[in-house]
Amino acid sequence: MDGVHEMFNIPYDKLIKKISEKSGKPKDEIEAMVKKKIQELGGLLTEEGAAHIIANKLGLDLVDSSSEGRLKLESIVEGLRSVETIGRVARTFELREFSRKDGSQGKVLAIQIIDNTGSIRVVFWDDMADKYSKLNEGDIILIKNALAKKNRNGNVELHINKSSEITVNPKEEVDLPEAGETPSSERKSISELSEQDSYAEIFGTIVNVFDIRFFEVCPKCSKRVKEVGGNFMCSEHGEVEPAYNYVMNVILDDGTGTLRLVFFSSQAEQLLSLSREKVLAYRENMEDFEKVKHELLGQQVVVQGRVSKNELFSRIELVVNKIDTNPDPDKEVKKLEE
Ligand SMILES: [Zn+2]
Repeated sequence: MDGVHEMFNIPYDKLIKKISEKSGKPKDEIEAMVKKKIQELGGLLTEEGAAHIIANKLGLDLVDSSSEGRLKLESIVEGLRSVETIGRVARTFELREFSRKDGSQGKVLAIQIIDNTGSIRVVFWDDMADKYSKLNEGDIILIKNALAKKNRNGNVELHINKSSEITVNPKEEVDLPEAGETPSSERKSISELSEQDSYAEIFGTIVNVFDIRFFEVCPKCSKRVKEVGGNFMCSEHGEVEPAYNYVMNVILDDGTGTLRLVFFSSQAEQLLSLSREKVLAYRENMEDFEKVKHELLGQQVVVQGRVSKNELFSRIELVVNKIDTNPDPDKEVKKLEE
C-alpha cells in the first residue's frame, strides 16, 4: 500500500494532534492508548505505528486526500491525464480569439505558473479562457483534471477544458515562490542554456551596455499605449497622458559565451543603482548616460531570470528579475564548478 509511507511521514506529535482533533478525545488520552498498545505488542512497535493502529481502531482516516496525487511542476510529463497541481501565476498573456475550420469562434488564453521545482505554461480553451482571463500575476491557482501535452516547441503544457476544475487562491497553506521570484533557479553557464530552460541563474561580467529605451504606458494600468494622431490611447482607459517605462539591454560574458540580459524598469534601476526619477531624466538627455554605461563595463553580476527566445533574432535572452550587483567572485566561481 502506497498510503502507508505517506502516513509514516507525519511526525508523532502531529499524529497525536490529528487523532485528537478528529476523534474529539483529549491528547493525553490518545497518548495513553498509544503507550498501552506498545506494551501489548511487547515494545515491537514505534510510537507512530501504534498511533496509526489507534487511529484505525477509532475509525479515523488520517491521510489527507486533498493533496494526494498532486504533482510538482517538474514531474508533469507529456500524456498525463487528470493532472492535479498547484502553482503561482508568474505571467499572463492576452486572451486570443481565432476561427476554427468549421467556422466557429474559439478562444485561447495562456498563463505561466511556477512552483519551487519549475514552471509550466497553462492553456485555457473557450469558456474556460473567458472565465480566467482576469487572473493576476501572483495569484495561486489549483488545477485539477488537466491534460499534459507537448506543444510545437517541444515543451509540455497543461490544457484546461470544460471538465477541468480550477480554484483561484485556495484557502490552504502552500509553499510556493513569492510573486516576482523565480523558482530555485539552477546555476548555469551561458553555453549550457537552451530554449528548454525556463529559468536560470548566471554569473558573469558585463561587456556591453546599450542605450535605455523608453516607451509610453498608461498611467493607470501600465499597459503599452498606442499613438494615434499625436494622442496616446490605452485599450482599456482610452486617451491618457502617458507615463514612461523603460528597458535596458546589456551583454554578459561568463567565459563560455555571451548572453543578452533584458532589464525592465525596476530591475534596470537596481542594476544602475538609480532612482526612477534619475533614470527618467536620461530620456531627454541620453548623452549623459554614456558615463553610466562606461561605469557598468567590467562589472560582475549574478542574475536570475526567465529564459526567453527572441523570435526576431532567433537568440536566447534572459529577462532578469533578480540581480546581485556585488557578488563574491571566488564563491561564484566555486558554485559553477559544483
Ligand atoms: Zn490603461
